[in-house]
Amino acid sequence: MPSGQKAYKTSLMAKSVNKIFKKMMPRGLFVRSLLILITPITLVMLITSFVFVDNHWNRMSDRLAESVVGEIIWLSDMVESSRWDYTDIQGYGKAHLEIDITYDKAAILPEHYKDHGSWQRIMRKSLERALDKRTARPYRINIAHHNKFIYIKIGLKQGVITFNVPLRRIFSSSAYIFLIWMAISSIFLISIAAIFMRNQIRPIRALAKATENYGRGIDTKNFKPCGAREVRQAARAFLDMKDRIGRQVSQRTVMLAGVSHDLRTPLTRLKLSLSMLPPSQDIDDMKKDIADMETMIDGYLNFARGADIKEESARINFSALITEIYARNKNRLKPVHLDLPEYVELNIKPQSMERALTNILNNADKYGEEIWVSAQIIDEPYNKHLELRIEDNGIGIAPEKLEDVFKPFYRVETSRNSSTGGIGLGLSIAQDIILNHGGKITLDKSPHGGLAACIHLPI
Ligand code: ATP
Ligand code: MG
Repeated sequence: MPSGQKAYKTSLMAKSVNKIFKKMMPRGLFVRSLLILITPITLVMLITSFVFVDNHWNRMSDRLAESVVGEIIWLSDMVESSRWDYTDIQGYGKAHLEIDITYDKAAILPEHYKDHGSWQRIMRKSLERALDKRTARPYRINIAHHNKFIYIKIGLKQGVITFNVPLRRIFSSSAYIFLIWMAISSIFLISIAAIFMRNQIRPIRALAKATENYGRGIDTKNFKPCGAREVRQAARAFLDMKDRIGRQVSQRTVMLAGVSHDLRTPLTRLKLSLSMLPPSQDIDDMKKDIADMETMIDGYLNFARGADIKEESARINFSALITEIYARNKNRLKPVHLDLPEYVELNIKPQSMERALTNILNNADKYGEEIWVSAQIIDEPYNKHLELRIEDNGIGIAPEKLEDVFKPFYRVETSRNSSTGGIGLGLSIAQDIILNHGGKITLDKSPHGGLAACIHLPI
């Protein structure tokens, strides 16, 4: 395979591994940072426990087992050789070695016993190693955890001798306690770290919420920069940016309003002068032009005022709002087909939204014969939104002009003649308002033949 192709395949593989890793990683900053903290601690704990159990604990169990087994074998030898009296040996074992001895000449060795749990297995392994080293006699080991004894049965030439050894002679609980302490202290430390981390993440969350709200046109009243230096810096930059945007918008508004207002006076004067002149075709044309100019100025003023409306947003049932708008305009509009969900609550500035929707409805009414208004909830992960479509069966807009019609004063029909359309501000105003709600608006060709205005609003 050529090296270029190989490199391409490797990069593809790296990309897909990266994708899988990204999918597996939790999304939230808090869980991610906790994971960054917990993973190394857990790894260190696992390695320590493994090395500790494997080395220290196994070796200690071996030593303890060897010493006990040494005593047991010695006692078995004594009993078997009958050099001492059996009851003396029993007494000696009990008094000095904490081992109970019972010898049954008629007994035979039972089946092998089963272990319960890994601690028992480790102990049994140590005992077996020691016994195998010291004796060729058959034996059985029964670790009875419940009464803290180990029963070791050894088959003698005649019968079976049983030793009851206290568990603590073989089992050292220090390892156990060490591991428990390690686990408890890690959990404690991780909990404290989690609390601190939560406090660090709170300002980042607040900043995220404030910027998100601002995008949706909601003002977060009590937002203050706090937290670590970098977070405060970002929060301050956000507040500065917000102020700058606010200033720019109000400047634009003031300027537009001023120009429109100043134009009105000379226009009125012109109108007056024209009405004094004797009537003629030219005068009529001039009057019509002046009337068009007045309509335009009204439009500019309207546009300027729209951006300046300081309306509070509220959570309202959007379907009800559309039904209301429909009811108010029903008589003047062409037939409208409504298809809305029963109830969908959104953050809406009702007056502005009504203005935006009326503009789009007016367009559909102007260019189409029938209007379709439909909405549905789209539940995408991290992007739950409402999709509202306003469609008509008119002439539609050529695909290459779908973006342009959002520009202020843009009309597909360029004559600027008031009889063939408005002044070209309706869609700009609507887009402004919808962006202000954190949504977006796109235009498309409708299955009904005309234009489809598709509006997304965050839920
Ligand atoms: P205004 O709404 O300010 O009175 P307008 O309707 O001309 O004027 P916009 O609403 O911004 O302005 O629309 C811009 C242009 O897009 C319109 O002039 C028209 O050419 C075209 N347009 C808008 N809606 C439709 C539609 N439903 N079907 C066909 N063309 C449309
Ligand atoms: Mg319009």
